[in-house]
Amino acid sequence: MRVQAINRHRFTVDGKGITTLVGLYGCPLRCRYCINKDILSTARYREMSPGELAKELMIDYCYFLATGGGVTLGGGESLLYAGEIRELKELLPDKVNVNVETSLNVDRRNLECVLDSVDHMIIDVKTLNPAVYESYTGVSLQKTAENLRYLSERKLQRKCTVRIPEIPGFTSEADIARTREEILRLGFEDIDAFKYVVR
Ligand code: SF4
Repeated sequence: MRVQAINRHRFTVDGKGITTLVGLYGCPLRCRYCINKDILSTARYREMSPGELAKELMIDYCYFLATGGGVTLGGGESLLYAGEIRELKELLPDKVNVNVETSLNVDRRNLECVLDSVDHMIIDVKTLNPAVYESYTGVSLQKTAENLRYLSERKLQRKCTVRIPEIPGFTSEADIARTREEILRLGFEDIDAFKYVVR
């Protein structure tokens, strides 16, 4: 796994309890306001096997146990490492939650591969307006939209938090309202709405 950064002792920021955020290298999107843009283009990362990562994460096992926390794999796009995430879950004790942050803009097989291994998914859907999505991310919305529908059909909504950001200069109030409506129609109830801070 190409690990860009490991941030320990995060409290209820990206998952329940105390979590360690692992930033993974690589992303299929090119978001206009990406805060990881520099990191994504410089390819500075540490190659780690799931076993090495599990060992490093276990330094905080007592915090995870005491607070119901665990690890959150972010990016970049965490689901590019679907096989390794599966392996990591098998190596960690059951009580360590494994969460992922994802845009869902990945092949279906990557999503299917982690479904039984991941405790919670934080989905940054951005917008369900295809034209706005494409102009903001540089890629088509199709995979994200299809994967959202797939999670809904599999009745996995309770495993998911869906983030709907207000993206200055890209999403209008009407876009945000329509995206929210569609997400609710698909049965997702845990919605995190917020505004991107553009630096
Ligand atoms: S999905 Fe995240 S990491 Fe990827 S380009 Fe967009 S903001 Fe950057």
